[in-house]
Amino acid sequence: MNAPDSNATKTSTSLYNTFARAPLEFERGEGAWVFTRGGDAYLDFSAGIAVNTLGHANPVLVQALTEQAGKLWHTSNLFRIPGQERLADTLVANTFADRVFFANSGAEANEAAIKTARRYHYVNGQPERFRILTVEGAFHGRTLATLAAGGQQKYLDGFGPKAEGFDQVPFGDIELVKAAVTPETAAIMIEPIQGEGGVRAFPNAFLRELRALCDATGMLLIMDEVQTGIGRTGKLFAYEWTGIAPDILTAAKGLGGGFPLGACLATEAAAAGMTPGTHGTTFGGNPLAMAVGNAVLDAVLADGFLEHVRETARYLSQRLGALRDSHPDVIDDIRGEGLLVGLHAVKPVADVVAALRDQHMLAAGAGDNVLRLLPPLNIGKAEVDAAIDKLEAAFTALEAGAATAQQPA
Ligand SMILES: *Cc1c(COP(=O)(O)O)cnc(C)c1O
Repeated sequence: MNAPDSNATKTSTSLYNTFARAPLEFERGEGAWVFTRGGDAYLDFSAGIAVNTLGHANPVLVQALTEQAGKLWHTSNLFRIPGQERLADTLVANTFADRVFFANSGAEANEAAIKTARRYHYVNGQPERFRILTVEGAFHGRTLATLAAGGQQKYLDGFGPKAEGFDQVPFGDIELVKAAVTPETAAIMIEPIQGEGGVRAFPNAFLRELRALCDATGMLLIMDEVQTGIGRTGKLFAYEWTGIAPDILTAAKGLGGGFPLGACLATEAAAAGMTPGTHGTTFGGNPLAMAVGNAVLDAVLADGFLEHVRETARYLSQRLGALRDSHPDVIDDIRGEGLLVGLHAVKPVADVVAALRDQHMLAAGAGDNVLRLLPPLNIGKAEVDAAIDKLEAAFTALEAGAATAQQPA
């Protein structure tokens, strides 16, 4: 596409032109499939970017939402909300955490985490400790603070001075992390597997060294599990694979199964400074979100669910391995854990995404030229087999140079 000026790329809608959208719209969904108005079926291995944990139009979630919708939508956090207390109890019973704050999105959950960490040191008599370390390639959201945390220049350009108090360290080098800690460092914030950054996992040994460094220096460990949490890696949270636990953790994407919902979890000690008036939200944890969140968590924590995720992931990984061996000119590396899978593409990943779309399969791009597969967690072998057929067809088309691939603007 040869755009002479920015007007030529203007969309025909009245929306902000902030998204390079695919020329597709869906009318309904069922399980791992979404359907256009014309009735074309697409296999959804992006799940709204790791959001539709239990697939589309899951009857249990539909019932939870509609039942609540007939009773009470919203009361604000001026009053007790039983659904919040129940979901917080469930999260606490199944994690390291003692306290939970509910928000509406991943970025908001991370804002709560950043404020919690700074406030912890403030009430402990060290108000100068407010700086947060983050890792190159990280993604923590699009608010002004979480953009500064992510530290990616292309997202910061043109939005004024970068929010103060975020320092970046290179990926996975504990010595460089140690060197970056100063008397002003409050916490390190890290995704156990970088999602948007290209499905890049930190070795468990590194995360354990990070925990030890936090213990030695009094820094708090914040894990951003907005993408890796809620069963995505085959455990409720990815930190469970590492043998260590954070002080603060954020979740969002999969937590509401498609209803906007985020959460910040913390230990009693870490959350001690968050007293009445220090933080708030109008919508966070509203009864509709809580009805769905409780239903999602009940399903993910039910007997056999996470075992099924791990089993499906093993099967997918085995079939992807064979696919990589037969198409080394399209993909050359398979990464990730559970059903957070990254395929490092040899060709431009936008072309791979488009070629898959031609085969009626949805997947997401990521940094580092990686194709992300993020299916609903309750898929089985049939959906994996369907995905492998579509990947095979797309890769073959790409090799033949016959794909009608089109780079987004
Ligand atoms: C998506 C994502 C966010 C931001 O979540 P939003 O709901 O878009 O604000 C933050 N951190 C990670 C790791 C994410 O994947």
